[in-house]
Amino acid sequence: MKGAVLYGPRDIRFEERDAPRIIAPTDAILRLSATCICGSDLWPYRGISPVAEPSPMGHEYCGIVEEVGKAVTSIRPGQFVIGSFATSDNTCPHCRYGYQSSCVHREFMSGAQAPVLRVPHADGTLVATPELPPAEMIPNLLAVSDVLGTGWFAAVAANVQPGKTAVVVGDGAVGLLGVLAARQLGAQRVIAMSRHPARQQLAREFGATDIVTERGDEGVARIKELTKGVGADAVLECVGTQESMMQAIHATRPGGSVGYVGVPHGVELRGEELFYTHVRLHGGPAPVRRFLPDLIGLVWSGKINPGKVFDLTLPLDQVAEGYRAMDERRAIKTLLRP
Ligand SMILES: [Zn+2]
Repeated sequence: MKGAVLYGPRDIRFEERDAPRIIAPTDAILRLSATCICGSDLWPYRGISPVAEPSPMGHEYCGIVEEVGKAVTSIRPGQFVIGSFATSDNTCPHCRYGYQSSCVHREFMSGAQAPVLRVPHADGTLVATPELPPAEMIPNLLAVSDVLGTGWFAAVAANVQPGKTAVVVGDGAVGLLGVLAARQLGAQRVIAMSRHPARQQLAREFGATDIVTERGDEGVARIKELTKGVGADAVLECVGTQESMMQAIHATRPGGSVGYVGVPHGVELRGEELFYTHVRLHGGPAPVRRFLPDLIGLVWSGKINPGKVFDLTLPLDQVAEGYRAMDERRAIKTLLRP
């Protein structure tokens, strides 16, 4: 089997790897229908997160169950399933509180940019669709696996409420789907912060009511203007830099909430400054598993089309071009066909 392996900065190779097989009795083996490249894959690709050894890449996946371990009871061969980047037993206390990405049995998935994938804790991690999906639905279901689930968590963590104003910082795939989530959760006004015309267009399709092109303090000033000097009720931080985090905190009204899902890189918060903002902060690795059944339902019924974030589709053996296109911001998100 051939899959994507990252060797170092901008050195991604499509090379022979051992085919995954059942190791633990709770495992499942999937034949992937589609996989993709995540914005977070760009951190090690760009050398911002160091790569200690050649690393199989990819953690977004959906496909057909080929085989399950002896202890797997709810997932069966032949089903079409979706899972998250974090495995979970879905039974421990953290899982039952809805924080499956902090499961006591959590493993972070990797190696999904390949035709076949092993998923630990299959019963707690995977959710099956009602039947086999039509081919055109697969990009929408793949988006549920991470980017939609993460954008959704950003909106929930930011406490988006019907009739309220939400701001989304970040116009990557997660931010764009944060716009969709905020709208679905009933926000009356959704302000997307983006300076890229193609991304602004998609943000509008997903329900953005306003676009702000300014960044940093100027961006905050613009949000204040649009909210009569008050600030936003809910702000979704979908980048993970110092600038984006401060932009999110300062765009929030006193008593409002920031939901942050951008993996922080060099973010430092000053206690005193935070103290006087009166802002709630909640975030972290999204517990996508909590949202999978509902989000699959929204896709299945045709109410949402989150797969629109895939603006480049390539065969898996061209994975290196997929990374380049995202790195150079020629593509929002690359879907790979095994
Ligand atoms: Zn658990």
